[in-house]
Amino acid sequence: MATQRTDTHPGIATGPAMVDRIMLPADELPRSWYNVLPDLPCPLSPPFSPATGQPVTPDELLRIFPPQLLEQEMSGEREIAIPDEVRDILAMWRPTPLIRARRLERALRTPARIFFKHEGVSPAGSHKPNTAVPQAFYNMKHGIMRLATETGAGQWGSALAWATRMFGMTCRVYMVRVSHDQKPYRRTFMRLFGAEVIPSPSPMTAAGRAILAQDPDSPGSLGIAISEAVEEAAGRADTNYALGSVLNHVLLHQTVIGQEAKRQLAMVGDRPDYIYGCHGGGSNFGGIALPFVPEIVAGERIRAIAVEPESCPSLTRGTFAFDYGDTAKLTPMVRMYTLGHGFMPPASHAGGLRYHGASPLVSALLNAGVIGAEAVPQAEVFSAAELFAHTEGIVPAPESAHAIAAVVRKAVELREEGRAATVLFSLSGHGLFDLGAYDAYLSGTLEDNSFASEAVAAALADLPRVEG
Ligand SMILES: *Cc1c(COP(=O)(O)O)cnc(C)c1O
Repeated sequence: MATQRTDTHPGIATGPAMVDRIMLPADELPRSWYNVLPDLPCPLSPPFSPATGQPVTPDELLRIFPPQLLEQEMSGEREIAIPDEVRDILAMWRPTPLIRARRLERALRTPARIFFKHEGVSPAGSHKPNTAVPQAFYNMKHGIMRLATETGAGQWGSALAWATRMFGMTCRVYMVRVSHDQKPYRRTFMRLFGAEVIPSPSPMTAAGRAILAQDPDSPGSLGIAISEAVEEAAGRADTNYALGSVLNHVLLHQTVIGQEAKRQLAMVGDRPDYIYGCHGGGSNFGGIALPFVPEIVAGERIRAIAVEPESCPSLTRGTFAFDYGDTAKLTPMVRMYTLGHGFMPPASHAGGLRYHGASPLVSALLNAGVIGAEAVPQAEVFSAAELFAHTEGIVPAPESAHAIAAVVRKAVELREEGRAATVLFSLSGHGLFDLGAYDAYLSGTLEDNSFASEAVAAALADLPRVEG
């Protein structure tokens, strides 16, 4: 038996030194995405149209999305086949390694077994190409060769710039101004792949002009940048819109992460007790956690926890209500944990987590008690990131370091309780484009943006009324 396993899984067969890096053979890249919709303990509320106040019609959405993605958004099928053309491109870096963080464990003197899924090995350096590739593909199949999108920290824009290039398409990226100015090399990365990068708010759209009229120095936000990209896509027949997180089809595409991790843990005879992922819009957290939902709903003791910044705490301090996905109210209203579509998160160094809302799927699971959520402050995040870099040799994205901070908390708690457990987390990306943030950390100029209660109360007072 032992030799048979050796043949199938050469990665773990060459001796104990290799066990910390658990590789799946290339042909075990998942053949389908896992759709959690049929396994939800409670149905999702439908999205409501910003124009009519009624449930959104497919026609409204077909103005900006290809039909294949809309179908996936609402599908009742548990497994959705990954097209060969998409699998071929994913195979350029997938399956990604699952790594046992043994040096981190030692530094923390914890009995916890800590494993992380390394999504930083993708061409754009994060998990985002997992959905950028299929989104570009389905648009191309539908005859749309140009996409408009937004990007916060630059990772989604990078992923879509790269993915559209793979299919000979073009894209325009509205980049939140604060990141545009903080991260010039993300801009260069996108432009290298042929994307056009516009700082947002911009004068190119009505939504951008309205914000600039109020505040010419607006740092921008994801909510504003989404308004700009949606406005452009809705107004041009040759252009569709692509979103890097939040939507059901995005989380669906990300389930390759959790499916692979489950198999990789099984290869070393393990399973997770705790699962962590940072949460901005919910895609990497959903990607690692959703494939475990059937087990959790069936009563297995697996605790999945979404980790967010204290400065933008949609899940832990927001309201579960219908709200717009963007500032200008152009997107449908969806039921989610929200801080209010008018909430302007402080300019933290985790741009990818600065979103007022959350994925409706993650929100519904949190509301039903299937998963949990936790918020961490920026200073704790960066000291956890430093410890991770020192022990595991990888500079994490500041976003990913939120998950690391929560994992460190849990590992210390397990040490104090003298209890062993398996902790799995998603390292959603590397931080090699985020050295400006690390520079601020090292020179002691990192602000701790606390949570602005009054700003949230004001933004929540402006939630739309929906009879859902
Ligand atoms: C975009 C991004 C996030 C946040 O988005 P989610 O959809 O919540 O995953 C987290 N980490 C990295 C590296 C990102 O690029």
